[in-house]
Amino acid sequence: MPAEQLKCKECGRTYPLKALFVCEYCFGPLEVAYDYDKIRRRATKERISNGPPSLWRYADFLPVERRPEIDLQAGYTPLIKADRLAAELGLKKVWVKNDTANPTHSFKDRVVAVALQRARELGFDVVACASTGNLANSVAAHAAASGTEAFVFVPANLEIQKIIATAVYGVNVVKVRGNYDDVNRLCTEIASEKNWAFVNVNVRPYYAEGSKTLAYETAEQLDWRAPDRVVVPVASGSLLTKIHKGFWELGEVGLIRRKTPVVCGAQAEGCGPVATAFQQGQEHIKPVKPNTIAKSLAIGNPADGIFALEVARKTGGLIDSVTEQEIVDGIKLLAETTGIFTETAGGVTTAVLAKLAAAGKIYPTDEVVLYITGDGLKTLDAVAGTLSTYEIDPTLSEFETQVLAENSGGGNKVV
Ligand SMILES: *Cc1c(COP(=O)(O)O)cnc(C)c1O
Ligand SMILES: [Zn+2]
Repeated sequence: MPAEQLKCKECGRTYPLKALFVCEYCFGPLEVAYDYDKIRRRATKERISNGPPSLWRYADFLPVERRPEIDLQAGYTPLIKADRLAAELGLKKVWVKNDTANPTHSFKDRVVAVALQRARELGFDVVACASTGNLANSVAAHAAASGTEAFVFVPANLEIQKIIATAVYGVNVVKVRGNYDDVNRLCTEIASEKNWAFVNVNVRPYYAEGSKTLAYETAEQLDWRAPDRVVVPVASGSLLTKIHKGFWELGEVGLIRRKTPVVCGAQAEGCGPVATAFQQGQEHIKPVKPNTIAKSLAIGNPADGIFALEVARKTGGLIDSVTEQEIVDGIKLLAETTGIFTETAGGVTTAVLAKLAAAGKIYPTDEVVLYITGDGLKTLDAVAGTLSTYEIDPTLSEFETQVLAENSGGGNKVV
């Protein structure tokens, strides 16, 4: 495979492609390094377009020896031109990358597909994760599909939809009384005791690479070019840094003209440590205690936060945050103008795009891609109580007086 070694992001020391995630010398995180000459020779546009309609069409860019035999076929989700959303925001060219269209309805299927394949290649037979919800759904589903034993750890106060949509796959679901950062700490401890593949702990370098496929697909769907600007949700910061890496790699191997988009990150004010560091011009991230409806983004101590900051700064982008009300408004704006119902993370992303557009920080003619990473059916409570419907008796006169009447005002019953 074109992946060559793991490399420390801080000091550059290299390690073999094993289940390692932290540098022994400086404690920096490890990242997969590739032989780009090898990829350049192999990965042609023809080879990619003849590949499967899933993220595995980009297997040449991923740290696995082969494609999995049993797999849920994550990725290759629609890129939708969102003209009505663009018009609403005073922009001309906005696309939505609709990653709700994945097997378990979030982009986490990409990272899990890659992590589990590498875990299999490394000989693990139990997989596990610490999750804010979507990762739990995805690990559970992928483990069920391949018949692998799994332990999934989540904060006990997680949305009920996400707990049910994990437990249904028949895996071990462990609800931990604490927040995500507590869950993650516990999992790091367990990972040092057990020979399990924790997808976002000891096989994190492989897991993280799965997110690059969002950039590859976007470029392919734009007929092999990078957009001017991307807006990406930030939890640990991994997704944002890997979308950037994906576009950079395509330039490096000559599949697009060398260009990386301006990268903008989106957080909730109730958990915005990276946005705060960006706004205050700081080099370090001060951990926070999350308090937001955007639970899938509620990581108070983000592992890749400083790298996300660095990407935003060097591409001329930014990391911004939005209020709880703006998140709900963002969910509705996206739904009403594109027909895509997103979970709270997508509300955050849409709201940050709206905020930037309103502040004149985006040129109207910029090509913008908005990454919608999870499905609204998972966080119904976020919009419950804010929508209206009509409720009537089954008579024509009720219909005419309650629904069609001039002053019916869009509904008589809140849901
Ligand atoms: C996990 C997640 C993210 C962000 O992921 P990071 O790589 O940790 O920044 C964004 N959106 C959704 C819906 C997620 O589940
Ligand atoms: Zn190091």
